[in-house]
Amino acid sequence: GGLTRFANHPMPDFTVADLRAAFPRALAEVRADFGRTIPLVIGGKEILTADRLASVNPADPDEVVAQVCQAGTAEIDQAVAAAKAAFAGWRDAAPETRAAVLIKAAAIARERIVALSALQVLEVGKQWDQAYADVAEAIDFLEYYAREMVRLGAPRRMGNQPGEQNRLFYEPKGPVAVIAPWNFPLAIACGMSAAAVVVGNCVVFKPSGLASAVGYGLCGIFREAGLPDGVFNFCPGRGSVMGDHLVEHPDITMIAFTGSMDVGLRIMEKASRVVPGQAYCKRVVAEMGGKNAIIIDDDADLDEAVSSVLYSAFGFQGQKCSACSRVIVLEPIYEKFTARLKEAAESVKIGPSEDPANFMGPVVDASQQKTVATYADIARAEGRILVERLCAGKGFYAPMVIVEGIKPEHRLAQEEVFGPILAVMKAKTFDEAIDIANSTRFALTGGVFSRSPKNLESAKKRFRVGNLYINRNITGALVERQPFGGAKMSGVGSKAGGPDYLLQFMDPRVVTENT
Ligand code: GLU
Repeated sequence: GGLTRFANHPMPDFTVADLRAAFPRALAEVRADFGRTIPLVIGGKEILTADRLASVNPADPDEVVAQVCQAGTAEIDQAVAAAKAAFAGWRDAAPETRAAVLIKAAAIARERIVALSALQVLEVGKQWDQAYADVAEAIDFLEYYAREMVRLGAPRRMGNQPGEQNRLFYEPKGPVAVIAPWNFPLAIACGMSAAAVVVGNCVVFKPSGLASAVGYGLCGIFREAGLPDGVFNFCPGRGSVMGDHLVEHPDITMIAFTGSMDVGLRIMEKASRVVPGQAYCKRVVAEMGGKNAIIIDDDADLDEAVSSVLYSAFGFQGQKCSACSRVIVLEPIYEKFTARLKEAAESVKIGPSEDPANFMGPVVDASQQKTVATYADIARAEGRILVERLCAGKGFYAPMVIVEGIKPEHRLAQEEVFGPILAVMKAKTFDEAIDIANSTRFALTGGVFSRSPKNLESAKKRFRVGNLYINRNITGALVERQPFGGAKMSGVGSKAGGPDYLLQFMDPRVVTENT
């Protein structure tokens, strides 16, 4: 039968007693499974390797979530070969058949949503609601891209010249490398992979080493949904060992990546060099960083503005490329806004994300913890600390920092921290606020709190980011409603969860017939 109209999976309602009770149960179940060994899955076969990497709970690094087998270059060669072998059959399956696998996968994820969320709480330190939203987004990607494939699967007739018939249609490319981040460990991994496979490509999937148990969950969902062997190959591995090898492999036709700007730029450089045996120009789709700003106009609703800035800056410890890391405040409202922001920031609780009373938890690992600590020092040197809060504990806790007196030339105004550090900047006029907002290499998300129609019009036109949010928080883009992605150094490619996304994973063809 046909597919119903797409609708986003609803957000969790923790006033429902059953859901509130289900979370601690699911957390206990994940914990009971701690320490298990996770294999690679290549061509449908589970493969154990000698090199293992422990994935740990950021709130208590002594808790090993899983021991994850690591792919080396030999396993990557096997995985690309498996993808290549599976390609012709999967390419030639009907679009509806491929879409049906995604719909089935969505149903499996929906049924398992609390268990999948609990795993993220313990593997990357996401709060309950944020973890649930991540799984909901994964479900949305599956449902949406399935429908998109059905739409794009029908050839389009072009032109109206008598005596000829022109048909435009799309074909998949071949083996695709999907390199996924840890911060939206199911949603983004699933979105990139689902897009690749639904159009008929075969995937070599590298999850982040910090979120490989969640990645293995995605592998399980695809297998149970009936994806043929070799179409999705699960290959966790150390980037330093196999990352370049995967990108440079002659049979890889495309790389879909989400992560840091440095790694993204390296991938583009490697992918642009043709290697012996290569028969395809590699395409790179990369979602990278942000240095996102929210502008607080002098007539802003401060209740809304304060809570939205707090959530956008510190939700999941600021570890989102969409997170707010600069707040630009108009002079007349500066004292009032900063006083209220300080009060709000000092009132939230910090601690393990598995306790829903905590607003902020640990960052994902020791390296992120160190990075944040370094930027906290830079904040002290460049500006004046307005708020600094530390949570003691054995987890990877990093300070929550709000620093004022930051100017556009400061590092705190230019460099992505990917952690809970917020720079406060002052502007004399709304125009100046927009200029400051635009004064970085990034162009991902942005926000404005204002009641002035004139200023809002000016922001819509001149605040040049991929996703601009007016009078609301700036994270949590929803599939189909807010197609997500940026420009400049924030990435290349069209928006995830939007109508152009699948096109990037295919090659267009036109057949002209003289009739
Ligand atoms: N799509 C996510 C959001 O809108 C951000 C994705 C990312 O951090 O990579 O919040």
